Amino acid sequence: MASKVYLVKEPFLTNLEKAMGKFDLKRRFSGKSTAVKAHMGEYENLNYVRPVLLGKAVEILQNAYAKPFVFDSPTSYHRKRHTVRDYIDTARRNGFTKETIGCEIKISDEALKEKGTILKRVNVCRDIADAEAMIVLSHGKGHVCGAYGGAIKNLGMGAVDIATKDAIHDNAAPLIDREKCTGCAACIEVCHPKANSLKNRKISIDYDKCWGCGRCIKACKYGALKPKLAFFNYLLADSAGAVLRKFQRENVLYVTMLMSIAPRCDCNPRSGMSAMPDIGILVSDDIAAIDAAAIDLINKTFGKDWFESLKYRNPKEQIEMIEKLGLGSGKCKLEEIGGN
Ligand code: SF4
Ligand code: SF4
Repeated sequence: MASKVYLVKEPFLTNLEKAMGKFDLKRRFSGKSTAVKAHMGEYENLNYVRPVLLGKAVEILQNAYAKPFVFDSPTSYHRKRHTVRDYIDTARRNGFTKETIGCEIKISDEALKEKGTILKRVNVCRDIADAEAMIVLSHGKGHVCGAYGGAIKNLGMGAVDIATKDAIHDNAAPLIDREKCTGCAACIEVCHPKANSLKNRKISIDYDKCWGCGRCIKACKYGALKPKLAFFNYLLADSAGAVLRKFQRENVLYVTMLMSIAPRCDCNPRSGMSAMPDIGILVSDDIAAIDAAAIDLINKTFGKDWFESLKYRNPKEQIEMIEKLGLGSGKCKLEEIGGN
């Protein structure tokens, strides 16, 4: 059966309230400690979720008698969200404070050990694991490793500790079959971090630089590369699944801002310019349906497969994995909420 996804149009905040209201918020969230999982933008990136949107979602939850707090985890890489202190400072500069959002903002890497189905261990952030309900508030955009970054990415990478983030990237890095490598160099052209090079006419990978994006594997026509454990998108969705298993399904709602859709993620100070007009805001209670709807709307707005044009992997690998885990359905029924 297809899951409902609402597409919110102008006026956005009024219609966001209408769309979220379709999900019987009092029954789902009243009296519950509710984590609002949000990425508050890397310093110098301007394509992150608008603070006013996050504040409105918090207000809507508070009006439904929920007890919301905003949560995110520090990054693995060493920019301005790597430590809790730096992240709080970056969030403040980007417009996210208790005063602007209307509730407490928690940043923490403390986590509980859980199991994945591919990943041996997924360490779920304790603040998320201890919450009774959750809103996953995401910015839909391109992502070098996952092709699309939305709700699955927000949880699979953002609701787990640094060790799990590193494990996802490391286990998606390519292994080389030297016998099959012809030295054609097609994989070198697609590597953003310049992690691969030819040595003695065979490919060599610097694993300290590799992100595990799998673009080189896609580019290799000779089958000389394959991921160590699985492609990034499957590991990402596996990690998101471990987070979701901490919740009753009816206690999780998803809101995705499809605006400022740049080719690279909000973690990147150079994420690129918007590649298409703004689309709106999506609301659903199905993680696979909301990401599938976003990918389809992005391609429709762009006029052709945007992800393929960027030589990214297929973003629907994430959805395929969530479906395999029985945590959602990529079949969605879209309904627009616009006007007054
Ligand atoms: S694309 Fe494949 S065959 Fe060509 S250099 Fe890279 S690994 Fe070797
Ligand atoms: S997986 Fe991505 S980052 Fe790693 S070598 Fe291949 S293209 Fe480069």
